[in-house]
Amino acid sequence: MGWSHSIFNAMAVTQIPFDQVDRNSPVVFFTGAGISSESGISTFRDLDGHWSKYDPMNLASPDGFISDPELVLDWYAARRKAILEAEPNAGHRAISDFQKLFKESLVITQNVDGLHILAGSKPVLELHGNIHRHKCFECSSQIELSVHEASNLNYCSCGGLVRPDVVWFGESLVTKTLEDAFQAVQDCQIFFTVGTSTQIYPAAQLPFEAKNNQAFVIEVNPEVTPFSSHAHMSLRAQAGEALPQLYEEFYAKIS
Ligand SMILES: [Zn+2]
Repeated sequence: MGWSHSIFNAMAVTQIPFDQVDRNSPVVFFTGAGISSESGISTFRDLDGHWSKYDPMNLASPDGFISDPELVLDWYAARRKAILEAEPNAGHRAISDFQKLFKESLVITQNVDGLHILAGSKPVLELHGNIHRHKCFECSSQIELSVHEASNLNYCSCGGLVRPDVVWFGESLVTKTLEDAFQAVQDCQIFFTVGTSTQIYPAAQLPFEAKNNQAFVIEVNPEVTPFSSHAHMSLRAQAGEALPQLYEEFYAKIS
């Protein structure tokens, strides 16, 4: 793929310190809602149809679940259905390719849809959980449910209600997951921040942390974000457009 036909110019590419990078260089991909929206998965900001009349706080918070668990489970069943109909896009696939190229690489995602895993990415840290997993609301035990079972009320052996294993409004991220994310970011040499508005902390701190620790930071986002002016390279593009081209460039230079 030639850069002359791409959205990038030669100047942008030469900024990447290819001479300091090899297949053993630690690389981190940090992704947000933007890469999922390219697969047709909507966010809370664009609730449609039936669900637009609800406050997201009632659909995705502990208080909302306590006051109307069936409503919350219906909402998650609808989300899960939409997600199961979606497929990883060229951005997810390019990240999976990158992970085969770089032996020490990690995906840190804020998305709960599991599309990185479906695209073959490994390892993946899911900061906000995974909509296909479930746990007890009371004792936090992991509970296996089929898609069909998950749309109904289920109880843990302790008597607690079963809920999606995702991080809701008002809940903290899992400490161990967050620690692993910050550790990887401190050690990485190249950091990609993809389709994330970098506005929700503590996750939004990760690109800044990478830059402070001397990583080369590449941002891919159609919109300008609070991090854009801090990135070494900031591309106004969709992940599915930019990442395959970046992959070709890295593959040609370092493999
Ligand atoms: Zn329990």
